[in-house]
Parts: sequence; C-alpha cells; structure tokens
Amino acid sequence: MKEEKLLYEGKGKKIFQISHSKDQVLLFFKDDLTAYQAKKKGAFENKGEICRKISSLIFKYLEKNGIETHWIEDVSSRQMRCFKTEMIPLEVVIRNRLAGSTAKRLGLKEGQRIEEALLEFYYKRDDLDDPFVSEEQIKQLGLIKNKSLIKDIKEKSFLINKHLQVFFKRANLELVDFKMEFGLFKNKILLADEMSPDSCRIWEEKTGERLDKDRFRRNWGQVKESYQKIECLLFKTWKELSDFKK
Ligand code: UDP
Repeated sequence: MKEEKLLYEGKGKKIFQISHSKDQVLLFFKDDLTAYQAKKKGAFENKGEICRKISSLIFKYLEKNGIETHWIEDVSSRQMRCFKTEMIPLEVVIRNRLAGSTAKRLGLKEGQRIEEALLEFYYKRDDLDDPFVSEEQIKQLGLIKNKSLIKDIKEKSFLINKHLQVFFKRANLELVDFKMEFGLFKNKILLADEMSPDSCRIWEEKTGERLDKDRFRRNWGQVKESYQKIECLLFKTWKELSDFKK
C-alpha cells in the first residue's frame, strides 16, 4: 500500500494518512530503538518487522478473544492498516511483577511478585517525561473528556492482561509488565499503538532470562536475538492454537 501524507513520526513508528479512507491510517514500524525518554538511541536490522509481527499477532489474539483493537490488517512486513483513533493522552501500565520504575521508586527488589495485577496511569507528555498520574488527577485535570472512560479503560486493561497472561504462559514466557495506549473511534475505546518487546517486559518462564527492551536499556546485548526468540515462541503458540481449532 502506498504511503500517503505523513501525519506523525514517533520514536518507533511513522503514521500515514490513507488517501481513500479518512477513518484509517497506515502504521510503519521503524528499526530505531530508544530508551530513557530518547536520551539513549540505537537500532537493529529488521527490528521494525519483528515488532510489527508481534504487535499484529497480539492484536489478532485479543480480537479473537473479543477485545477491540485498532488493527485492521497487515499490509507489508513493516506496515499495518489501523482505524484512526482519537488518542487518549495516557499510558496505561499493567504489572504482574514489580520491575523497572515502580520497583525502583518503592525501593523493592526487581522481580518481586505481587498478588494481584497492578494498574498505573502515566500522563503522555514527552516534555514532562510522562509523569505518573492518579485517577483523581486524571478527573480533576480533565485529561479524559468523559469520566466513565476511566472505568472502561481499567476493565479493558485487566481483561487484556488476563488473556495475554494465558497466551504468553503457553509460549513459556512470562508477561512481567506492559504499557498500553487507547484511542476513541466512533465512541468506542480501542486498544491502539503497538504491543511489542519495546513496550512489554517479557521473561522466559523457566530460566527467567529477560528478552525485552531492558536488554537494550541496560546494555546486556543479544537484543535482536531476544526479540526474535519472543517472535518465534509466540508464533509457534499461535500456530498450535490455530491447528487445534481446525
Ligand atoms: N513503557 C513503555 N513506554 C514508556 C514507559 C514504559 O513502553 O514510555 C513500558 C516498559 O517497557 C515496561 C512497562 O511499560 O514494559 C513499565 O515501565 P516502567 O514504568 O517500569 O518504566 P521503565 O522502567 O521502562 O522506565
């Protein structure tokens, strides 16, 4: 599909308008990798393809389980066609174990298990380094137009976590935490953006080996190999599930 007018270029993706449909956009996945608010920059060959493939697979899996997403179809190895949503300026993080910023802020050992999944909101503002916001702050500051949306987003997020935990476990992976972004399309909330090792912490279940962007953030090496391993395990599981249903 021909890329049309560039609407937006982010750290990992470009978003193009599609000329024949004003309701849809084309997402192009780049090879760039950034961390720490883009203060650390890198890239590896085919990263865009791997992240597009994993994102599409996760969106498809969720759609099969009744969760609406912005994904419509894969267009090429790096492009997917999506509904053009009005993005909600929040990053929603779900944690199944404590790692990264929350573990650090609370002085807890990284990897600590928690009894129930934890949900956190961050205000999507690059110039403020995406600060943590409480539900009260979201309401009081009018970050979301309709207050009932917060409830919908929370319910949807926990449901997504439930489905993904099952899927990842079948693939011998553990979904430690992940970040989601939601958008509004025709008054419905859709899961948008991407779902990839750039935005999720994914550990190998048996060994605890870390396979996600922390390898890049913390200079552990084997970034490409780890992303490929996630891709391979998730696709194998997807295929097994599809074969089983035939
Ligand atoms: N995350 C993300 N984009 C961000 C911040 C976080 O995709 O701007 C993801 C991150 O990869 C991890 C989860 O959200 O899977 C939780 O990140 P955390 O708050 O622990 O921050 P970090 O340690 O990544 O700074």
